Amino acid sequence: MGSQNQSCGTLPCSGSTSNTSVVTSVGGYTIKYGGTSGPNDYSIVSTRFNNDLLSTCSSWVANLAYYASTYRGTGLSWIGHIGTEAHNRCSWHQHCKAWDLNHIRFSNGTYLDFVRPSESWNSSSRAERRLYWAIDASLQRYFNATIDAPSDPTDHDNHIHVDKSCGSVAAPYHPWLSYSDDTKFIQYLCNDFNSAGIDTDGYWGNDTQAAWTSLLSALDMSCINPLTSAASWKTFLGYIMRHGLANRSAGYWDYICSEVQ
Ligand SMILES: [Zn+2]
Repeated sequence: MGSQNQSCGTLPCSGSTSNTSVVTSVGGYTIKYGGTSGPNDYSIVSTRFNNDLLSTCSSWVANLAYYASTYRGTGLSWIGHIGTEAHNRCSWHQHCKAWDLNHIRFSNGTYLDFVRPSESWNSSSRAERRLYWAIDASLQRYFNATIDAPSDPTDHDNHIHVDKSCGSVAAPYHPWLSYSDDTKFIQYLCNDFNSAGIDTDGYWGNDTQAAWTSLLSALDMSCINPLTSAASWKTFLGYIMRHGLANRSAGYWDYICSEVQ
């Protein structure tokens, strides 16, 4: 995000396999294709990645594995996806420069499936929603172009798209009283980690400002400003990962401004 949840640049309309590699794992973790018929409908399929995308994906998965081991108490087992390469529309998928993820399987058998039982981001289970935000946050630490379910409920309700077209990670876009996908994401975080109970309409107004201030306070993070600094935004997202992976309310782990100032 940081760029309105969309890909950037002139989207390629014809395929290219230059600077690509065909792999069955990313960062040492097996990737499995499928999921359309349920969380056990995955199989290992060789997948072509642009090498630059693959490098960033490897860094992402290593970071997620570390957070999972540390804060969920279980490592990563494999990553489910529905591919990189596509040739049916103008997209970074034409160059294998985009990846569509739909399942995270942990070593202890627990998982987040974006496809089933249904819409994990909008699940009746708060634990499942928190886990979705944790994975979403983990991707946003590495990709400025992410398209998640809240930003595009029609076409991305069953997977999260990432690509590198928008450049390096930026602070979130949160215009006052104008729509932003980043604002919507933050509103969900305020509700699911700090019981804010605000509208998730994507418009930053007084209610969102108050909920955001309360969330930062709960995390003891008021001394940094994740809205204006990419580094602070990534720090904040790391705390969302911790709490989401462990199913905790904001403040179980504190940034503790008094110790870092
Ligand atoms: Zn995609």
